[in-house]
Parts: sequence; C-alpha cells; structure tokens
Amino acid sequence: METAEKTVRKTFSWPIFDETEVEAVADVIRSGKWGNPDCGDLVEAFEKEFAAYCGSKYAISCVNGSVSLRLALIACGVKPGDEVIVPPYTFIATASTVIEANCVPVFVDLDPDTYNISPQAIEAAITPRTKVIVPVHFGGQACDMDAIMDIAKRHNLRVIEDAAHAHGAEYKGRKLGSIGDVGSFSFQSSKNLTAGEGGIVVTDDDELYAMMNSLRNVGRIEGGQWYDHYNPGCNYRITQMQAVLLSAQLKRLEAQTITRDENGVYLNQLLEQIDGITPLKRGLGETRHCYHIYIFKYDKTHFNGLSKVEFTERLAAEGVPCFRGYPHPLYKQPLFQNKNFMCYALPDDVDYTQVHCPVAERACSDEAVWILQHAMLGTKEDMESFAEAIRKVQSEV
Ligand SMILES: *Cc1c(COP(=O)(O)O)cnc(C)c1O
Repeated sequence: METAEKTVRKTFSWPIFDETEVEAVADVIRSGKWGNPDCGDLVEAFEKEFAAYCGSKYAISCVNGSVSLRLALIACGVKPGDEVIVPPYTFIATASTVIEANCVPVFVDLDPDTYNISPQAIEAAITPRTKVIVPVHFGGQACDMDAIMDIAKRHNLRVIEDAAHAHGAEYKGRKLGSIGDVGSFSFQSSKNLTAGEGGIVVTDDDELYAMMNSLRNVGRIEGGQWYDHYNPGCNYRITQMQAVLLSAQLKRLEAQTITRDENGVYLNQLLEQIDGITPLKRGLGETRHCYHIYIFKYDKTHFNGLSKVEFTERLAAEGVPCFRGYPHPLYKQPLFQNKNFMCYALPDDVDYTQVHCPVAERACSDEAVWILQHAMLGTKEDMESFAEAIRKVQSEV
C-alpha cells in the first residue's frame, strides 16, 4: 500500500542562527569574562539595547521569565495576602510567582474573541486587597491596555505586563511591555527571542528599577559594598554568553516579527473561509501581533463531531506544527485545587475548586488550536498549505 503524502512536507526549525551567534559566544569564551556584573559589560549592553527596542527607560535581565515576574511583583510592594489578578489561560508562572510572593492569584475570565484577559472581568474582581493586575499578551496579541490602565488608575493598582509571548509586538504603536508599570519577558527556548533561557523586565520608573536591580543581584544596591545586602534578593544574573547571544538574536527580531504578523493576517483570511474555523479577532488596538502562537477556534460540529484533540492530532499528522494547548485553565491544576502551597501562606478562605471561567474552560477543552511561532516564519505558500491541511482533515471526517 502507498503511504499517503503529508499535506505540509516542509519542516520548520527554531532557533534561527548562523556563524554570527557562534562567533559572538566564542569571543566571550576566549575573553575569559563569562560572568556579570563584576567582570564584564556585555549584559549591560544588551539591557540597553532591549530597553531602547521597547522604548523603555530601563531593562534588567535575569535568569528566566518566571523570576522576572517575581522581581516585578516584589518591587511593586505586594504584602502577604494581597490579591493579584491574573488570567487562567497562560503558562503556570504567571500565577505560581504570585504564590511565591505569598499573594493570592485571582483568576478572571477571558474575552472570547481574543483569549486575552477581559477588562470587565478584572473590574468585577477588584476588592480592597487587590494590588496588581497581570495582563498576559496571549500568543503575542495585545491586551486591551487602554481599558486595563484606566482600571488600574481608578483603583490605584500596579500593572505588570506578562509579555513572555510578546517581544516586538505593539499596541497603538507602543511596544508591549512598555505600557504598564513593568513589562516582563522570557528568553526560554520556545520564545520569539531566546538564549535557551533568560528573562528581562523593563520599566520607566526609577524606584522600581532600583529595587528590581537590587533583587536580581543578591540585594546589593548601586554604590554599596559587595558584601552589603539590603533587600531579599538572590543571584538571578545571566551570563555574558547569554547576553551576546541575545544581542545577536535581537537584530533578527524585527524582521521575524514582521514576517509572522504578515503571515498571521494572511492565514486569518484563508481560515475565515473554512466552516467551523474562526481565527481570533484582530483590530482591537494591536498595531503589530508577533504570533508567538497563532490561535484559531475549532468547532467540531463542522467536523462531524471530531474532538479537538483528535483534530489536532490529525492536523499534526498532515505536517502542521500545531498543538491542542493547555488542557485545563490554571485553577484546575492540582497545585491550586489541592492548595499545595507548602511554605507559602494563603488565607484559608481561598478555594480554587469554586472558580469557574467558562471562556477559558471552553478554549482548553473544545476550541483553541495553536500553530507555533516558528511555523509562522514560513512563506505565504506555507500558510496556504496549513489551510489546505485543515480542509483535507475536514473532507475526511
Ligand atoms: C514562558 C512563560 C513564562 C515564564 O518564562 P520562563 O522563562 O520559562 O520562566 C511566563 N509567562 C508566560 C505567559 C510564558 O509563556
């Protein structure tokens, strides 16, 4: 029997690099100045480049995009028991770093058209204990930042943008991450800007800068002695090898982001024409989407009842780099259901078994299908092949 040809035969690789990156890292190794901050300025150079790229005054690098959230939360002055509003459809770190700060993650539901946190749901969840809102620009799509910043101003809250998916994306011409009090990014290996691991925060605020800088550097302060420690920080510094890798990758980011954005717009046009497939909505203030994840909504009633999980498996078998995404909203994770917080003290009345966010639950179980960012770096023909693969699965069920 003949083996059926996959619709998409091309494979997509990530990360993208050449001898520039190899030489940059080799030069650091030869220099013998591998670490920061006592020996070397390449980390600082990258921080300046990234801050300038975002249009922010300061950037502080750190070991990953979870620690960057932690630095931001602590610097924002949260106290034990304070509430932090987060979406439930995101990577665990958005909420687990809140636990690590001895604060209470309060999960609120999504806008069904964008899968980003709903400003109305934020407003409805505010209590006298609320201190911070953490909007996640999910997949690289801008949250409704005008509405969120307005809510924060009226209720005197801080805003930490979790921009781990959103390097280079924009809202009304401003880079995501540069709009709230702090923007937090990850450089983990899947992210749109990567050094294998790493993270960074950006801010315009002098005091937040000084505190986050101290926290990532064992509580030292600028101008202080090496063995004088003022704040409850840790060693969260990155190496010079990571810094030069990031500087080299940053030079590629702009062109890559434009390609993904153009491909996303084109793929939307193609998929809108398929019954039972609805791309997430654009045109809500994002002037550039960076498609860390391209997401569309799947409706099984147009696929003869084929479940989402089976659909994504079939689509992957056709060669589309796709994924069913998170199986559950975060509050359904055993960590929250069992309140397995160990040394972290959350009030007794917090009960995540009572939380329901129907839009997020539907996205996880039935609707959301992800195409991963490296596939969005392909050609227009590649986008056409993804649409063709979906049509093929539809015709076969
Ligand atoms: C990846 C990610 C993080 C955490 O980044 P790490 O570098 O893996 O610690 C935080 N938030 C979101 C939304 C992420 O996707």
